[in-house]
Amino acid sequence: MKCPGCRESEMNEGRENYRYTESGLPNVTLVDVTVRQCPKCGNRVVAIPRLEGLHQMLAFLVATQTARLSGAEMRFLRKHLGWSGSDFAKTIGVAPETVSRWENEKEPMGVVAERLLRLMALREKPVSEYPTEKLAEVAQDNAHPPRLSLRASKTGWHEDKAA
Ligand SMILES: [Zn+2]
Repeated sequence: MKCPGCRESEMNEGRENYRYTESGLPNVTLVDVTVRQCPKCGNRVVAIPRLEGLHQMLAFLVATQTARLSGAEMRFLRKHLGWSGSDFAKTIGVAPETVSRWENEKEPMGVVAERLLRLMALREKPVSEYPTEKLAEVAQDNAHPPRLSLRASKTGWHEDKAA
């Protein structure tokens, strides 16, 4: 594969653990994925299999965590639902500035709005594996968000607890 950056060199290919900051989440690692690097300009391209399945898995993990959502996680779930900030504001009945303040962590999101966002994200795929009563366990205080490591297999993306 030719480098899409400089178009001058073939890219070297290797496998590594990749910090998936493009997701908008700071703490997601994709375990053992193919990363191509250009020896000439240093351009790096990661190959992410089953992107849709990955984002569904991430949305599930973010929406079911017991820690309160960070601003980045709210933004991730909102975008996963395909909404702009003002779409989301209209849907749940708040001002667009409020959504922006939540996502920039200038104002805490209320517990009811947070549960609503989680539920909407979980409704995107069958929730049979996640009893919604579990939402009652969501902590009131801001806990440290968990690190997420995911590995692709033939059946989809899975959490990699060892990584
Ligand atoms: Zn290059």
